Amino acid sequence: MLSRRKLIKQLSAMPLVGGLFGAATPLTGALAAPAIASRNLVKELGIRTFINAAGTYTAMTGSLMDDDVVSTILASSKEFMMLDDVQTKVGEKIAAITHAESAVVTSGCFSAMTLGLAGVLTGMDQKKVEQLPHLGGTGMKSEVIAQKGHDIGYSHALTNTGCKIVQVETIEDVEKAISDKTAMLWFLNVQSDKGKINHEQWVALGKKHNIPTMIDIAADVPPVENLWKFHDMGFDLVCVSGGKAMRGPQSAGLLMGKKKYIDAARLSMPPRGSTIGRGMKVNKEEILGMYVALEKFVARDHDKDWKMLEERANTIASAARSVKGVDVAITAPPLGNHTPTLRITWDPAKVKVTPNALREALRTGTPSIETVGDDKGVGMTAWMLKPGEDKIVATRLKEELTKAAV
Ligand SMILES: *Cc1c(COP(=O)(O)O)cnc(C)c1O
Repeated sequence: MLSRRKLIKQLSAMPLVGGLFGAATPLTGALAAPAIASRNLVKELGIRTFINAAGTYTAMTGSLMDDDVVSTILASSKEFMMLDDVQTKVGEKIAAITHAESAVVTSGCFSAMTLGLAGVLTGMDQKKVEQLPHLGGTGMKSEVIAQKGHDIGYSHALTNTGCKIVQVETIEDVEKAISDKTAMLWFLNVQSDKGKINHEQWVALGKKHNIPTMIDIAADVPPVENLWKFHDMGFDLVCVSGGKAMRGPQSAGLLMGKKKYIDAARLSMPPRGSTIGRGMKVNKEEILGMYVALEKFVARDHDKDWKMLEERANTIASAARSVKGVDVAITAPPLGNHTPTLRITWDPAKVKVTPNALREALRTGTPSIETVGDDKGVGMTAWMLKPGEDKIVATRLKEELTKAAV
């Protein structure tokens, strides 16, 4: 095994993306982490690790960073750089990949929303930047329009600027709600089937009234095309998470869109203080790591990935179905977390365990396995599994179901 010092030396000598880029790596490759850590903190602190058969959940630390993201982080940690310079250079590259005019790396999709709206509110007016989140008497607009079905928890990112959300349901509602206080029209892609107004209509409303539109696509890649589709469609700002399927740093995300709003958003971002965004810092390592994650994600063979994920899902499904009374459905949510997803249910007269008890047995077993679910069934995805873990999950699931079978 490489010593820590040797590894760092090797990594520093590597160009940032270097020869590693483009190499075919498994979707969640095995990471040489133990070589880097001279201490095993997981063991030392008694932190539970687990097989993630659940998905890209924030509480479960999102996704595992791509190996090249980790080596980028290590290599770039050896030099000082000007934070703004890193953002500008990386932003130009990200914008080119995503068909955006401009882009900046934020601390997650949530802060992309806050900062994007801040930019819309303040423009390049330094005084307004410092006044946020106090809008009264400043001349800044104070309302964001959103469809009722879209106004779920994440809109708090927008109210962090001091704005309030005005809920609408129909196009007529939007026309009525628009006033000289309206700052932005916000769309939540994953809830687009929960609203009466579709993407194109939303963009058209914005253009008609000269009000910027923003879309949250946090967990909505794949499909990879979503990274540019909404710029092409005419949204002014697009926000996405970096640490979900793209396998960038969990604490990174992207704000992309019209240059005038990105430039303005950056006035509320570090290194500038006296701003609402000062606490939303992204270090140079993660900015660069996010860029590499995006580049690698876009370059992947997504059809091949999909087939592999289906195979993994089928491995787990077959094992479960071999137990009498168990039923497995595999579907892919169309709007967000678009990946083969298992729903495992059973006849309680034939398998005498509740879904929650089964999930707990998988969690407390060896190795620990995390799943999702409710009172009626257990849910799983295969995209956060490391190679081979599908077989472990299949075996453990079958064991627990068989144990409970009458
Ligand atoms: C995950 C998520 C967010 C927050 O994204 P972060 O990258 O964790 O900040 C926002 N909106 C939606 C719909 C999400 O799924």
